Amino acid sequence: MPADPGPGTGSGSGPGPGRPHVLILGGTTEARRLAEALAEDSARLRVTTSLAGRVAAPVLPPGETRIGGFGGPAGLAAWITAHRVTHLVDATHPFAERMSFNAAEAAALSGVPLLALRRPGWSPGPGDRWHFADSLAEAAALLPGLGTRAFLTTGRMGLHSFAHLTEPWFLVRSVDPPADPVPPRLEVLLARGPFTLADERDLLAHHRIDLLVTKDSGGSATAPKLTAAREAGIPVLVVRRPAVPAGVAQVASVEGVRDWLSG
Ligand code: NAP
Repeated sequence: MPADPGPGTGSGSGPGPGRPHVLILGGTTEARRLAEALAEDSARLRVTTSLAGRVAAPVLPPGETRIGGFGGPAGLAAWITAHRVTHLVDATHPFAERMSFNAAEAAALSGVPLLALRRPGWSPGPGDRWHFADSLAEAAALLPGLGTRAFLTTGRMGLHSFAHLTEPWFLVRSVDPPADPVPPRLEVLLARGPFTLADERDLLAHHRIDLLVTKDSGGSATAPKLTAAREAGIPVLVVRRPAVPAGVAQVASVEGVRDWLSG
């Protein structure tokens, strides 16, 4: 395999002729952990993480990074070919639906193998009072009957789905301030996770929260809010995950990706 002359915007772009080039579609804790794990093999592997650019000052993973959209599946396929990517890993958030479909199409167009790294979803346990919605729009329709002071953790990008609601009062926590349109009765807390169980207990109590709204993001990083809600007897409205592209192989762990790369 020839040396990869492709440009990188981050560190770690050593010459390494013959190294396979892994493109990680990121923006998640799992993607960062994967980049960290693969950095241990940097003599053997070239790794680039791609971020959408939604967060103003993202925490960058080791290896090379690039930021911003590719211009749809054809743009991603062109980038893969131009940068001699040999393996594509879709480690985007379970709710980043469009990018997962773009990845599947780009993999087919470029002939590069694709693996999805998806953390498992959450399941209710004893003491949980969960309600389910299939979309943010359905969650918005269910919300007014479920609580009066809602901690809305479905992400600042989807806030427009709730912008027409005058009830309930909302608390939103995000790294960057949300853009309009947002619900009229909204308090924004600017903060970057991870948040501990003690943090979440304090937040629910301090703001007198009586309803938690969340996507079924899965993983441990944002799970303490669910434990805090269970302890406080607060109901949780859970937005189910969107469909995943058919035929794409999936693993649930960084180890699974390493096995795939070495297989
Ligand atoms: P999306 O709706 O699936 O994607 C919208 C567009 O953003 C894509 O068509 C693509 O643009 C660009 N994009 C998405 N992920 C990208 C990546 N890793 N690298 C380069 N371009 C990317 O995605 P989203 O829900 O807006 O999420 C954006 C990012 O935030 C993702 O990386 C995701 O992992 C992360 N994130 C999302 C959520 C969530 O709840 N949705 C939560 C936490 C983190 P082009 O078509 O121009 O290539």
